Amino acid sequence: MYDTLQPELLTASETEKALMERHPTYVVSWDIFKDNQLPYLELRRPFILGLHEEDIWRPTIYHAFSKLLFDKQKLLRSYTQNIDGLDYKLSVPPQSIISCHGSLATIACEGCGAPMETNTFTNLIKTQIKDIYKTDPSAPASSTPIKCPSCSKPLVKPSTVLYGRNLPAEFHENAQSDASAANLLIVAGTSLTVYPAASLPEMAGGILSETTRLVVDRDKAAGYRASIDIKNNPKDIMLEGDCDSVFLDLIEEAGWLEDLTQYKDSLCESSKRLLDGRLLYLEAKGKN
Ligand SMILES: [Zn+2]
Repeated sequence: MYDTLQPELLTASETEKALMERHPTYVVSWDIFKDNQLPYLELRRPFILGLHEEDIWRPTIYHAFSKLLFDKQKLLRSYTQNIDGLDYKLSVPPQSIISCHGSLATIACEGCGAPMETNTFTNLIKTQIKDIYKTDPSAPASSTPIKCPSCSKPLVKPSTVLYGRNLPAEFHENAQSDASAANLLIVAGTSLTVYPAASLPEMAGGILSETTRLVVDRDKAAGYRASIDIKNNPKDIMLEGDCDSVFLDLIEEAGWLEDLTQYKDSLCESSKRLLDGRLLYLEAKGKN
């Protein structure tokens, strides 16, 4: 996003555009948002509509694995650094998920905290925010701020954490006790370089800990880069591969493939194809 940011397309003053040019993260900072909500909303427009309205962004096998853990009462908590809201799409209840950097899944006012219904918000996005990506012909030609119905300030947005704002309190309220209570901590799809999420394996691991830490990553280096010393800790496990394949293997090993198929229609296309391929393979193998 930062590489492709085109400040000249956004509704902003010349000074704001110059700042975005120099520091692309400025577009998602409290500094600009408190004065001008539009660049953030224009940038996020297709992601907000794609998630809530058009159902373009769909969960993967990893998300389904997380839901299966919940269904089988084995999920203590899911911590995510992703803001895409996909962790919520298979109806894992919000109290079982901690979105460390906030999420596009819920909408609230940055000023007074009042929540807004996603339907109300997406309608306002459609009719009041222009489409800088030129994919929606029905979008308005220029943007109008979205005002909060409670405090009437133009500060309504998806609940992602802006630079310069505090991370959600739930992380610190739950991390230590969850890390101590977990039998297994699964670390997936992260280089473990961004805090506070990167501190979870440290909290859960260690010589005296009973917790097994499982790292799933495309390259082994991620596990070593992290504070997890997989090489020396016999309780820790590294599974190399992409998340979808590794979690499909785990689901199969656990005997949960049939449970997974009930979520197949909600999955993204590549996850669906992977699952179909696995089912066909097993069927053929069974016949032989
Ligand atoms: Zn408000």
